[in-house]
Amino acid sequence: MQELTHFINGEHVKGTSGRFADVYNPATGEIQAKVPLATPAEMDAAIASAAAAQPAWAATNPQRRARVMMKFAALIEEHMDELAELVSREHGKTLPDARGDVQRGLEVVEVCMGAPALLKGEYMNDGGPGIDLYSMRQALGVVAGITPFNFPAMIPLWKMAPALVCGNAMILKPSERVPSTSLRLAELAMEAGLPAGVLQVVNGDKEAVDTILDNETIQAVGFVGSTPIAQYIYGRACSNGKRAQCFGGAKNHMIIMPDADLDKAADALVGAGFGAAGERCMAISVAVPVGEKTADALIERLVPRIEKLKVGPYTAGEGVDYGPVITSAAKQRINGLVNSGVEQGAELVVDGRNFSLQGYEDGFFVGPSLFDKVTKDMDIYKEEIFGPVLSTVRAKTYDEALDLVMTNNYGNGTAIFTADGDTARDFANRVNVGMVGINFPIPVPLSYFTFGGWKKSAFGDLNQYGPDALRFYTKTKTVTARWFSGIKEGGEFHFKAMD
Ligand code: NAD
Repeated sequence: MQELTHFINGEHVKGTSGRFADVYNPATGEIQAKVPLATPAEMDAAIASAAAAQPAWAATNPQRRARVMMKFAALIEEHMDELAELVSREHGKTLPDARGDVQRGLEVVEVCMGAPALLKGEYMNDGGPGIDLYSMRQALGVVAGITPFNFPAMIPLWKMAPALVCGNAMILKPSERVPSTSLRLAELAMEAGLPAGVLQVVNGDKEAVDTILDNETIQAVGFVGSTPIAQYIYGRACSNGKRAQCFGGAKNHMIIMPDADLDKAADALVGAGFGAAGERCMAISVAVPVGEKTADALIERLVPRIEKLKVGPYTAGEGVDYGPVITSAAKQRINGLVNSGVEQGAELVVDGRNFSLQGYEDGFFVGPSLFDKVTKDMDIYKEEIFGPVLSTVRAKTYDEALDLVMTNNYGNGTAIFTADGDTARDFANRVNVGMVGINFPIPVPLSYFTFGGWKKSAFGDLNQYGPDALRFYTKTKTVTARWFSGIKEGGEFHFKAMD
C-alpha cells in the first residue's frame, strides 16, 4: 500500500496526524494508496514557510516568473502521458479524456507566460499640475487553492499558475480522492525553477480547509467543488476578511429547437451527458427539446447512441467511452436518484442501474440512463446527479424552455442547438448563465477568456483564469505623485480638484 505525502518546502513530507484517507482505484474498487490528512499544526506550519518564501518570489521580476511558467508548460507537455495516467488511475476517466484534463490546465499555464504584459499598471501623466498618477498590481501574499476530484490536473493548474505568476505563494489542498497529480505537478514546478516553499501541496479534509479559512496569513481562497461547500467556504473566508472566489455545482440545460440538426444534437448530448461518467461541472444533464415532434425524434436518436456506449476501465484502451464514478457512495447515490426518478413518474427510457462489468464487479461503474418526461418537481431535476444520467424535460415553446433555464438555481453552462441565428442570439443575450454554447454542448471558454458560472454555481467576484485571475490574485495600489519644483504653496487640508 502506497503512503502518499505532502509536498512542503520543495520536498515530499510524510503526514504526522496518523489520519489518512483511502485513495481508490475506481475501476476495481481496491484501495491503492492512503493520503495523509494534515492537522491544523501541519497546515499552519506550511503556511508560515510559504509566507517566508513569498517575498523573494514576489521581488523576482515578472518576466523571470513567466519564464518559470514557460519551463513548467514544457515539462507538463513532456510528461503528458505520465500525468494523464496518474489522473486516470485515481479518477477513473479514460486516457484521452485525462489528456484533455491536463491539456486544458496546460493552456492556462501558457497564458500565464504573458502575465508581465497583463500585470502592467496604469499611468496618467499630468493628472493635475505637475501631478502624475500610476497604479501597480502587487501580489497578495500567501493564497490558497482548494480543488475537487473531477479534474485532478486542470483545476489545480487553473489555481496555481495565475496565483504563482503574480508573485504569490500558494497552499494547494487538492481533493483527497485524487492527490497524486497535484503532488507530481508540484515536483514539475520545482524542476521548472519555482523556489521551494512557494507552492505547498498540503493534503487534508475539512480540518485542513478550516485551518486555511481561519489562518490570518492566507489572503485569498480559490475554491472549486460542490455548491454547499462553496457557499460555506465563501462565507467563512469572507467573514475572516479574505478574498474568495468559490465555484460550485451545476445543472446544465441544452435546448434543442425544432430546426436543429437532430443527429448533431444527439451526438453532442451523448458526449456532453455521459463523457467522464457525467462527472463534469459542464456536463449537460438536462435536454430540453422544444415541441413534441422534436422530443420524439430526439429520443429516437438518443436511445441507440446511448445503448452503444462502452463503459470500462481506462486500461481497456481507446474504445472505452467512459469509466467508473469516483466512489462506491457516488455509485449508490446515482442509482438511488435514478430509482427516485422512476418512483416520481419519469419515463426511464434507458436503464443503467444494473450495469456490471465482467472482471470488474467491485468497480464503481454505472451504466448510462436516459429519462424522458421529467418535470421540475422531481429530485432528478432538482439535484445535481453528477453521474451518467440524462434527463429530458419537454418544452412546448422556446420561451418555456428559456424560462426553465432561467429559473434553475444553477447557472454554470447552457447550450442551444438551432439553425436560426436570431434565436441563438436572443438566447445568448437573455439567459442568466455564465457560459453559453451555440451548437456547442460544453462551452468551456479558452484560457485567454475566463471561466465562471452565475447564480448558485459561483460565489464571490471575478472568474477563474484569463485576465480575471490576474486581478483576483493581485491588489491594486495607486500612487499620486508630485515634485515640488515650481510649486510654492503651503500645505493643503481639503480634497483638491485637479485644476
Ligand atoms: P466537494 O465539494 O465535495 O469537495 C471539494 C473540495 O472541498 C475538496 O478539496 C474537499 O476536500 C473539500 N471539502 C469537502 N467537504 C468539505 C467540508 N465540509 N468543509 C471543507 N472542505 C470540504 O466536491 P467534489 O465532490 O470533489 O467535486 C464535485 C463538485 O465540484 C460538483 O458539484 C461539481 O459540479 C463541482 N465542480 C465545479 C466546477 C466549477 O468550476 N464550477 C468545476 C469542477 C467541479
